[in-house]
Amino acid sequence: SETDIEACKAALRAADVPLEDAPGPVQRKSRDFYWYSPILKRQLEEVKGDFIVSPRTEAEVRTVLATCHAHGVPVTVRGGGTGNYGQSMPLRGGCVLSTADLNGFEIHDGRLVAEPGAILAELETACRAEGQELRLFPSTTATATIGGFIAGGSSGVGAIRWGGLRNPANILKLRLLTMEAEPRVIELEGPEVHKAAHAYGVNGVITRLEVPIDPASDWIGVLVGLPDLSEALRFALAAGGQGDILCRMISVFEPGIAERYFLRHRAFLTAGEGLVGLYVSQQTLPALEAFVAAEGGAIRYRDGQSEQRVPPLYELGWNHTTLRAMKVDPDTTYLQMMFGDYPVAETQRLKARFGDELRLHFELTRIMGKVRAVAMPLVKYTDEARLEELVSLLEAEGFTVFNPHRVTLEEGGMKAPDLDQLAFKRETDPRGLLNPGKMIAWEDPDWKPVAGRTYLFGETAKEG
Ligand code: FAD
Repeated sequence: SETDIEACKAALRAADVPLEDAPGPVQRKSRDFYWYSPILKRQLEEVKGDFIVSPRTEAEVRTVLATCHAHGVPVTVRGGGTGNYGQSMPLRGGCVLSTADLNGFEIHDGRLVAEPGAILAELETACRAEGQELRLFPSTTATATIGGFIAGGSSGVGAIRWGGLRNPANILKLRLLTMEAEPRVIELEGPEVHKAAHAYGVNGVITRLEVPIDPASDWIGVLVGLPDLSEALRFALAAGGQGDILCRMISVFEPGIAERYFLRHRAFLTAGEGLVGLYVSQQTLPALEAFVAAEGGAIRYRDGQSEQRVPPLYELGWNHTTLRAMKVDPDTTYLQMMFGDYPVAETQRLKARFGDELRLHFELTRIMGKVRAVAMPLVKYTDEARLEELVSLLEAEGFTVFNPHRVTLEEGGMKAPDLDQLAFKRETDPRGLLNPGKMIAWEDPDWKPVAGRTYLFGETAKEG
């Protein structure tokens, strides 16, 4: 049937579902951090939903889905709206389903059961009150939701111990509602979880989820200075592989980044040094101190040292590095890439070739038991053509680039359709109404990437 927005709104209002359609709030809740990318900023500037609903219960989510299905109205779920690839932006308009009021949770021994709209920082605080802690959270933890993290995020603080969200150790269960005339509940467990994790909400609306939690440690943030970038990276990789130093985060910054962008910390730092930021357990701090001394480094800063209020160290790392750089140098953008088995040599090669056009920042993660460096380099932005060219050049050098300047699942991530997620979408959303435009495979299961070319996901991109 044709899309009928007015009839859909009337039916939702009649069913008492909280609904907002004033242009201001609708505009605001149709946006996320897409403007992080100069390319997405141009492509998505005009994207806007028709109305916002804020269901308070799973039953209301069911009403929203059934009603929108009946009226052919697309539904795009929104958590905290901190995604930076336009994940939660309604490319084809329609209904934006806010999970803000689905925020209950229960803490058990070793596991957390939550509704999707619960804010991660609040969950961490509640877990800590019971002597437990989350395994993984993004640097946007202060405003991001757990549902948005699982559906749209990838990794974060904790990755040095637990790897990213793809590690099956990090999600226990997802409960979803399907987009059908009569929405069904589907529960995914174990490896099945992959069908809907990091799927941008294209194949079901998560209404409840379960993640493992661990006994809490006392973490202290420290910044360690080392003579240069290579030394800093070598130190970080060694510290991350050390069995007697327990870390929750290890970030590495090229000399210059901290002095220029870490405004509240720079008074403590020494100009020209490579910098390593770590969260280390209090108990293993002495082992770290000994290791720093042995490696010729120096602890420049530790939590509690500043008399001013300073941001937590995780708000210097992950994608917050880019945010801080953009505030000082607006012509900054970024990339995300995997380094191989010789990250120090690869780093030197990249610096020799690209100089200050790429300023390197790494986050350490554990992949298949091995400590690996993921880079989120700051890029000096000139124009779109050069940014596309940079991606191609880096890929030609053998790096895997997770392109953050793309709105689709495939182009950002694994560069190929995920056939399990596609099959699951056929089951859960046969009309293709959930977050349309984000999964290329839905329109073209045989899609293969062409260097430098953006997939045209609908009218917005075609006009752009
Ligand atoms: P949203 O942006 O609202 O949504 C994300 C996606 O999930 C959307 O596709 C949405 O449709 C879908 N979704 C939301 N709720 C549901 C649901 N209930 N059911 C189905 N689908 C749903 N990401 C990281 O992984 N690690 C980081 O360290 C990190 N750092 C960041 C730093 C900055 C400064 C910024 C701007 C972004 C960063 N991000 C990071 C990206 C983002 O903040 C996180 O992924 C965050 O967890 C997203 O949560 P959210 O609630 O804001 O989700």
